[in-house]
Amino acid sequence: MPEEAFPLLPPYRIKVVEPIPFLTAGQRREAYAAAGYNPFNLRADQITVDLLSDSGTGATSSAQEAAAARGDESYAGARSWFPFRDEVRDLTGYPHVLPVHQGRAAERIVFSTILRPGQICLSNTHFDTTHANVELAGAEARDLPTPRALDLDSDDPFKGDVDLDALERTLAGPDGERVGLVLMTITNNGLGAQPVSMANLTAASELCRRYRVPFWLDAARFAENAWLVREREPGYADLSPREIATRAFQLADGCVISLKKDGLAPVGGVIGVRDPDIFATCEANLIATEGFSTYGGLAGHDLERLAVGLREVVDEDYLRSRAASTARLARLINEAGVDTVQPAGIHALYLNAGRLLPHLDPGRFPGHALASQLYLTGGIRCAELGSLYLGELNDDHQLVRPAPFELVRLAIPRRVYTEAHLEYVARTLGEIAKQPDQVPGYRITAAPRVLRHFKVRLEPAV
Ligand SMILES: *Cc1c(COP(=O)(O)O)cnc(C)c1O
Repeated sequence: MPEEAFPLLPPYRIKVVEPIPFLTAGQRREAYAAAGYNPFNLRADQITVDLLSDSGTGATSSAQEAAAARGDESYAGARSWFPFRDEVRDLTGYPHVLPVHQGRAAERIVFSTILRPGQICLSNTHFDTTHANVELAGAEARDLPTPRALDLDSDDPFKGDVDLDALERTLAGPDGERVGLVLMTITNNGLGAQPVSMANLTAASELCRRYRVPFWLDAARFAENAWLVREREPGYADLSPREIATRAFQLADGCVISLKKDGLAPVGGVIGVRDPDIFATCEANLIATEGFSTYGGLAGHDLERLAVGLREVVDEDYLRSRAASTARLARLINEAGVDTVQPAGIHALYLNAGRLLPHLDPGRFPGHALASQLYLTGGIRCAELGSLYLGELNDDHQLVRPAPFELVRLAIPRRVYTEAHLEYVARTLGEIAKQPDQVPGYRITAAPRVLRHFKVRLEPAV
């Protein structure tokens, strides 16, 4: 079996390609200065390897494009709706399915249905838009990650878990009455792409049942979580990734999913739910704000791509090769002298910029400094997850409360880059790691009040 002996081998070959630009160092310096030293302001045609996000950036397959050609764009009851609905029902076991254009629309609709102002939503870690949508519903988003996640270097297999003791304490304590929802993010995107174990999901689900609190999944990476469960959790090696994912959905009352990740398509999302009353309220909201309930803001061709993508993403050979590829990149980066959050997840690697650049204090944004250097040295785009994104600033844009860690996220698009592209990333990091003290820090020149990282402008601080 070649795939067993050589886990890196992808179960596909390339049929359609897209050129990527190679800029000179001078062109990159100019482009980055014009972008206000913020990678979100760069144009895609100024980037050689784009690791900003794994969302909507994957390659589709010939089977998906063949299905898309059959897309039915009827306003109601489109032919394309039914294979999508059936695939989601079959995968999740939830009888009620609503399509949405992307994950945050699912969040908005579900939270405004389930949560009341003043309530609390508990999570292993809320993703940023999830956090925002909980608060837009008037509720408080509270993260209860396992303390094991705080050790970035340990090889604990399930650092994405929720802290079960803290969860039970909260449910049983004075705030317990106000808990309106427990939402588990699989995998834990806000916290190092770490997976959640089935044991943790099962225990959290039982606690929620005992305290009569709805238990939902934010399942953008349900297939990647299932793969890591299969690899790391005793008792799952003989189940298929799809069977494991279905078991996870079965533990919950419903799910919100951004299908821009494990849906293997550029756009899409879905709500799955057991309760017919919650479904009916969500459906009314969907029709008023997103589109009729058989398309939800998606085109028929999107629904077709997604129905096929949801099958392809649980293919063992695909998941094995993707996991092996990310793990190999982590190894190459570590060998080049840069530490990453351990153990490697699947959709992203997190570089420990604080450790690589000790000459920069958090107020000079070492994560942003490393992300910037990756662009300036190699045309590689990625984003920091440190004090620029998560720290607290005063009105003069000075950092007053740093983030706990200064990290940089390298998100890996699905089926897009070859091992040569990833080796290039590791090699560029190796170049930077030879003279880390040459990497300049940054200061903010202009920052918006909300969602700062998208629009902030900076300059090198020399
Ligand atoms: C991407 C993501 C979302 C939001 O989905 P969009 O499709 O970007 O709106 C929510 N939760 C998690 C865990 C995500 O990764």
